Amino acid sequence: PALFGPERRNSRGWDLAHAPDLAMIEAARAPHRATRFEAAPLIAGSTAPDAAAPVLNPADPADIVGHVRPASAADVETALATARPWTAPPAERAAILRRAADLYEDHFGAIFALLAREAGKCLPDAVGELREAVDFLRYYAAQAETLDAPPRGLFACISPWNFPLAIFTGQISAALATGNAVLAKPAEQTPLIAHYAVRLLHAAGVPRDALQLLPGDGETVGARLTSDARVNGVAFTGATETARIIARAMADHMAPGTPLIAETGGLNAMVVDSTALPEQAVRDVIASAFQSAGQRCSALRCLYVQQDIADAFLTMLTGAMAELRLGDPWDLSTDIGPLIEAAALRDFSAHIARARAETRVLWQAPAPGTGHFLSPTLIRVPGIAALDREIFGPVLHVATFRAEDLDAVIDAINATGYGLTFGLHSRIDDRVQHAAERLAVGNLYVNRNQIGAVVGSQPFGGEGLSGTGPKAGGPSYLPRFTARPAPKIAG
Ligand code: NAD
Repeated sequence: PALFGPERRNSRGWDLAHAPDLAMIEAARAPHRATRFEAAPLIAGSTAPDAAAPVLNPADPADIVGHVRPASAADVETALATARPWTAPPAERAAILRRAADLYEDHFGAIFALLAREAGKCLPDAVGELREAVDFLRYYAAQAETLDAPPRGLFACISPWNFPLAIFTGQISAALATGNAVLAKPAEQTPLIAHYAVRLLHAAGVPRDALQLLPGDGETVGARLTSDARVNGVAFTGATETARIIARAMADHMAPGTPLIAETGGLNAMVVDSTALPEQAVRDVIASAFQSAGQRCSALRCLYVQQDIADAFLTMLTGAMAELRLGDPWDLSTDIGPLIEAAALRDFSAHIARARAETRVLWQAPAPGTGHFLSPTLIRVPGIAALDREIFGPVLHVATFRAEDLDAVIDAINATGYGLTFGLHSRIDDRVQHAAERLAVGNLYVNRNQIGAVVGSQPFGGEGLSGTGPKAGGPSYLPRFTARPAPKIAG
């Protein structure tokens, strides 16, 4: 238990291979196919109205998913002035967070609809995301009941668009479970899901002055929150560069020692050696690199295939890539949804055009005409050092290696400075052990895909440029939100 944290069960989730589950989902989300959702500041005082902007479906810009009214400077000030730690006893807070978990599960129809239409998530991803959010609520609730430590005070929780429910909920539930007040700043791309979630948390009984929502841009709302001395801690998940900006702002404006819990980017690799089972490895490469259109921090960016099997393996891989269906994430036949926004698509265009000019594109299928779609792309590189930054989409880079050069490959992966996930397909135990010891990564996956960590059994987080730790969904996470951190526990 010390390694994995409190006893509890993970959410059952929904079994998409089970016809009654699927029919239930279809019936529950159908009414939300055309709902116009809304997001606005949810603060304990009155708000200063600002113009509402439309939020568009990344798969179909003609679909208006809803409208968002960002928090004004006056809203942020009101929220900061009215925020109050949650003084209810730990058991009562835990009961309310568990009730919120139940409410999340009850509202799966609207949540799956929002995840598809606002965040471009295919149904299996949406199911995984709702489960993870529910697991965070129950896991931190259970742990907080046994944690006898006072809150720090007020936490700013700043989250990314790529897990707009799970990471958003994970941060705030950890801060709330330990009795802190929370000002939550969701990503500008996904305010509607965040608004929906905070309304459920309030309905479950979280006091409105303990949890306030401030939608808006990072450079305005986010920057205000991370440079205000009334904030006693920041939980941030997003790009490494943003974490640097936040760390600088906190150093300038907050008390020394104010915690920044940052989970950031990755440049993740996988090694497939000649002892791997090729069918399994191909399936796991496809999931790791392309599921969620590659928009996972854990996703595979650079694949190393042992030279002896490379030709056969890449033939199988491109064959599998050709089978992937791009399209509307609402449709059950879709494997890969859109990129989150047009800007991301533009970034990739330059990257792929350069590779194409150098005849390094090994495979790319055509993409649908409307929406921000990028079809899965395979690009040859000499090694991971050719990638100078995180590539956040369905673009996989592939290099070959000779067995005797495996240590050089591991050194090159470590030399990127990132250390989030790593995958290894090999049936040589010594090799697995050796790689595990030599690689500086947070999460290492052997003979499986490298995405989809499970709360409570696979605590998730990176090293180096990939994050500060402690790992989310593990036993060391909650103490960081208290004024009396417990000794670090492995895992
Ligand atoms: P981002 O850094 O652009 O934005 C994340 C959040 O920070 C958003 O809410 C944004 O508004 C806010 N922000 C931006 N500038 C800010 C500023 N100056 N001050 C305060 N807040 C500011 O990241 P993104 O594009 O939303 O998400 C994708 C990134 O997140 C990728 O790099 C991915 O690897 C990373 N990520 C990491 C993990 C992890 O667990 N390690 C998980 C998911 C995503």
